[in-house]
Amino acid sequence: MLRYLRPREALVVLDNCEHLAPACALLAHRLLTGCPRLLLLVTSREPLGIGGEAQFPVPPLPTPPTDAAMVELADKAQLFARPRHPYTRMLLDAIPDIHMSGRSRTPVQGEVPNPLNPPTGCSFHPRCPHANARCKQERPALLRFGGALIACHAVEEGRI
Ligand code: SF4
Repeated sequence: MLRYLRPREALVVLDNCEHLAPACALLAHRLLTGCPRLLLLVTSREPLGIGGEAQFPVPPLPTPPTDAAMVELADKAQLFARPRHPYTRMLLDAIPDIHMSGRSRTPVQGEVPNPLNPPTGCSFHPRCPHANARCKQERPALLRFGGALIACHAVEEGRI
């Protein structure tokens, strides 16, 4: 990288450096001392503490009001082994197969609802394969099923 960048005028972005701050600080120092025409833009929740560093605090982006709600709360082993809520199931099913086992991936279907104009009833109903008329009208309450809390009419009705 040093050999490539040394003769060039370039801007390099190091993103999310707070996770590896010491290693990023070392890399940044080597790049800046080895490449005289390099500009480095670093995003990090903490400064790297290297010479010449200038900090530009960026406030968090405002978020619109949402209709967000918890849909499933369970022990993590139970959640991954036997997810109950349809959205939890679909999210876990959409995880890329990094072990290349040949498992097919099924991305979550449909559009993410507009948080400024959320759907009536269960906000997941436009994308849920188990939605019924009740789901479109009545927001499910978070109820206890075994060791988990789940907000889903299909689970409550024993349909899944
Ligand atoms: S309440 Fe209905 S729409 Fe919502 S996740 Fe359960 S089955 Fe799907």
